[in-house]
Amino acid sequence: MCSLLSKEFNFVHLSAGELLRDAVKKNDENAEMLNRLMKEGIIVPPHITIGLLKKEIRYYLQNSNRTTFLVDGFPRNIEQGYMFEDEVKPCDFVLFLHAEDEQLLERLRSRADNEYRVDDNEESFRKRFRTYKETGYPAIENYGKMGKVKKVDMDSTVKENYKKLRQIFL
Ligand code: AMP
Repeated sequence: MCSLLSKEFNFVHLSAGELLRDAVKKNDENAEMLNRLMKEGIIVPPHITIGLLKKEIRYYLQNSNRTTFLVDGFPRNIEQGYMFEDEVKPCDFVLFLHAEDEQLLERLRSRADNEYRVDDNEESFRKRFRTYKETGYPAIENYGKMGKVKKVDMDSTVKENYKKLRQIFL
């Protein structure tokens, strides 16, 4: 959904998870720890994620004329939401793309058949669902209290889901 939005509206798409996987591929000094935490579905320390996001944002601001950033997979807990707002900028709003667990599992299994990720296996799925319930969802609720959440149900096909989502940006 973020890729489609970025393409249509020329947003910069930054995925926290993708930046972390890149850091592992480049054998960053934290690579081993990051790989382990991702496999366990545990969120990595906020200074690492926010450090990577800041670096990317700075790069685009200095080297392009794009100023709208779509930060995918973020925040994963309340603390990193506040940290981002303090150190980078308060967000305009948070997109909450919602689907039922069963449907999410189906989509994850299909991704596991098509690409390799260290955390695309049944055990990591369970752990990631647990982390989402413990810390991810409370972070969304916290933004809800600030009136900043736009929720869209992702219960249909990619095409239909995107049709609903893009209305927010028109
Ligand atoms: P994702 O690509 O969004 O599915 O994230 C994959 C994994 O990367 C997560 O299970 C976490 O271990 C880590 N990760 C992704 N985003 C964050 C974040 N905002 N803060 C901390 N860890 C993250």
